Amino acid sequence: MIYTIDRITTLINAERYGEADARIGFILTDSRSLCFPEETLFFALKSDRNDGHRYIPELYRRGVRNFAVEVLPDSSSSYTDANFLKVADTLKALQMLAKKHRETFHIPIIGITGSNGKTMVKEWLYQLLMPERFVTRSPRSYNSQIGVPLSVWLLNENTQIGLFEAGISRPKEMDALREIIRPTIGVLTTIGTAHQENFASIEEKCREKLRLFRHAQTIVYCTDNALTARLISEESLEGEPIAWSTKDENAQLYVSRIEKQAEHTTVSYRYKNHIEGQYTLPFIDDASVENSITCTAVALYLGIAPAALAKRMAHLEPVAMRLEVKEGQHGCTLINDSYNSDIHSLDIALDFMNRRPDHKGRKRTLILSDIEQTGRKPADLYREVSHLAAKRRVEKFIGIGRQLCAHADSIGITDKCFFPDCESFIHSEAFDKLRNEVILIKGARRFGFDRLTDLLVKKVHETTLEVNLNALVENLNYYRSFMKPETKLVCMIKANGYGTGAVEIAKTLQDHRVDYLAVAVADEGVTLRNNGITSSIMIMNPEMTAFKTMFDYELEPEVYSFRLLDALIKAARKEGIAGYPVHIKLDTGMHRLGFDPQQDIEKLIDVFKHQNALIPRSVFSHFVGSDSNDFDDFSRHQFVLFDEASRKIQSAFPHKILRHIDNSAGIEHFPERQLDMCRLGIGLYGVNPRSNAIIHNVCTLKTTILQLRIVKAHETIGYSRRGTVERDSLIAAIPIGYADGLNRRLGNRHGYCLVNGKKADYIGNICMDVAMIDVTGIDCKEGDAVEIFGDRLPVTVLSDALSTIPYEVLTGISNRVKRVYFQD
Ligand SMILES: *Cc1c(COP(=O)(O)O)cnc(C)c1O
Repeated sequence: MIYTIDRITTLINAERYGEADARIGFILTDSRSLCFPEETLFFALKSDRNDGHRYIPELYRRGVRNFAVEVLPDSSSSYTDANFLKVADTLKALQMLAKKHRETFHIPIIGITGSNGKTMVKEWLYQLLMPERFVTRSPRSYNSQIGVPLSVWLLNENTQIGLFEAGISRPKEMDALREIIRPTIGVLTTIGTAHQENFASIEEKCREKLRLFRHAQTIVYCTDNALTARLISEESLEGEPIAWSTKDENAQLYVSRIEKQAEHTTVSYRYKNHIEGQYTLPFIDDASVENSITCTAVALYLGIAPAALAKRMAHLEPVAMRLEVKEGQHGCTLINDSYNSDIHSLDIALDFMNRRPDHKGRKRTLILSDIEQTGRKPADLYREVSHLAAKRRVEKFIGIGRQLCAHADSIGITDKCFFPDCESFIHSEAFDKLRNEVILIKGARRFGFDRLTDLLVKKVHETTLEVNLNALVENLNYYRSFMKPETKLVCMIKANGYGTGAVEIAKTLQDHRVDYLAVAVADEGVTLRNNGITSSIMIMNPEMTAFKTMFDYELEPEVYSFRLLDALIKAARKEGIAGYPVHIKLDTGMHRLGFDPQQDIEKLIDVFKHQNALIPRSVFSHFVGSDSNDFDDFSRHQFVLFDEASRKIQSAFPHKILRHIDNSAGIEHFPERQLDMCRLGIGLYGVNPRSNAIIHNVCTLKTTILQLRIVKAHETIGYSRRGTVERDSLIAAIPIGYADGLNRRLGNRHGYCLVNGKKADYIGNICMDVAMIDVTGIDCKEGDAVEIFGDRLPVTVLSDALSTIPYEVLTGISNRVKRVYFQD
């Protein structure tokens, strides 16, 4: 829907500066996601760490002319044709705009909250309702203070039902979300321990969530959960409760039977004592069954007939939450998004692709299936798809499905081809010719895109390291929360990003605007540059043989000795270079590398003063034991030495020299020592080096069961007959060995992995490529997943068992283990 800038000014109560007419169709809060500048209104939001006002000049240059701001830019006269809407609080104004937009709709609006299952319930309700209603819903999991207004803004003149998620992580957040969504139907999914950090109790969190339902006419929830049931009655909500239960026959929706088979579940129910029904769900896990019942209650309330419901339930598609990045064949990178195909999630996926830099020459390709049942005219829809794809710099378009074939003309990208189905594409020349491309694969499951991805992905090994990019960003924010907004940050991605794979990590970090990336050697820096990384890069161990490479690729070396410094100066002079930035390392107690803070400073200053090839950009030192209170005195001693020496260096030069000493543990333990910059390492990858606890888990090392066999009592397993079984045992072989980085010392029951959530000991000696585990008594079959460490088995369990540190376990995972990156 389009609003004039006039109208918006009134709706958000803004003071308007500027007179240009404008029609606004898009709202932007993240400058990196800009797509349609002319019709965009940018809200300059302020957070603890960032300030949207900073991006106004850049956005103006890129064509944006409408800005909601708290402060007018200094040189507002140079933005002659722009409009600035000045408000006291831009976030509140954004929320206000969404609220006013919402108020113009008199249709059922479903508001979903809970700890788990919100997105699944939302997506399934969408699948169940869309055959007969035009549904507008939150894209992916846009459920925050910013995500909710952006979602509600998507309501348009076609919408017949709105479907929105509300997520909170701290007290007093729900009221704002309720005012924006104003649900007529409230839906509560499972309440659990997720996002509990900022609440005193589950009860407090649950009460906060229930505030979403204050004015709802109907509230759908499960009454079998005693806490929810009690709180709902205590909160004296206005709406009519539609409670479901598997126990209480008098519940509005009574589930009389849940019958699980090998691959599906049959659920029988009675609704309001007179409608009897049954459906079969193509899933068997408890969460899916529970969420399907919640959906049933909503669907029946909305008047969907039990027969229609049963038919649609049978075809429910799993909700793929993840956007995955995988290495493909023939130099391709695959971005796989099997989240329900619709235009908003397509836009998010395209934005994700667009924001990941790439080295020159690789084409951006979109493989898209028909977008089904949108209630829109296909010609319009695909014209919009084409427009969006072109704006997001897609250069090649491959359409799959009969509808796309029929509307090939709507796609304005020159390099395009179309196929009626996935099979015909797979057997085409176009498929064979995919080379050196970044390929976004986006298709509804019905089109069988799984098979497509399987064929395109590079086959290495059945063992994979899954890297959760959301968790990485959460860890980044966790550490940033200890830092002042102006403190700069170096992210350490040496040793291939502590084992996670430096390139993809660097892309994510660059997108989150970290100031510096640091790697160990020049070659690691070159790899980053070749993959489109333009951030500043520090080289911690510059080799004497790699100076030229560093200059060519703008990699900034650390200098730790006069010998290195002299050689660097000579090399820079030879290339005719002046003012090349370097980073000075001082040895305050590690006694590894670095200048002596008490004896070398004078001479160091002197050397720098008598040349102009190099310029000190920063000076730093490294704590020996910031991870333990035992070394607090020594850390203080190190800091004093550093503080004094680094001030001396600074005072000798007119330009600003960044001073830094805090590493991950230091950021948390000595935030007062953050100086100008901090260096974040292990914490980024999820391990808190002080508590050894996992902050947000980033890495999960996974494999599968290759073969199962029963081994009789007293037989032995593996080389050298080290593993004797005492009883008849079930033994699984898994394709991971010490060559993959599974430490051989974990063998012979010194460690375990998880099979279907149960502990399985390594038995016998671990081999080079294979290990054997004892799965006696565990319900499992060949092909089942095995977690070596990760979401459910902290990496620290392994490092403790090995009497080492998690750093060693992570960096020891060998290159042949395929890395898969994903983001919600
Ligand atoms: C590796 C490294 C860091 C990061 O240390 P963490 O303990 O992983 O945070 C910081 N500074 C220097 C000089 C390093 O080599």
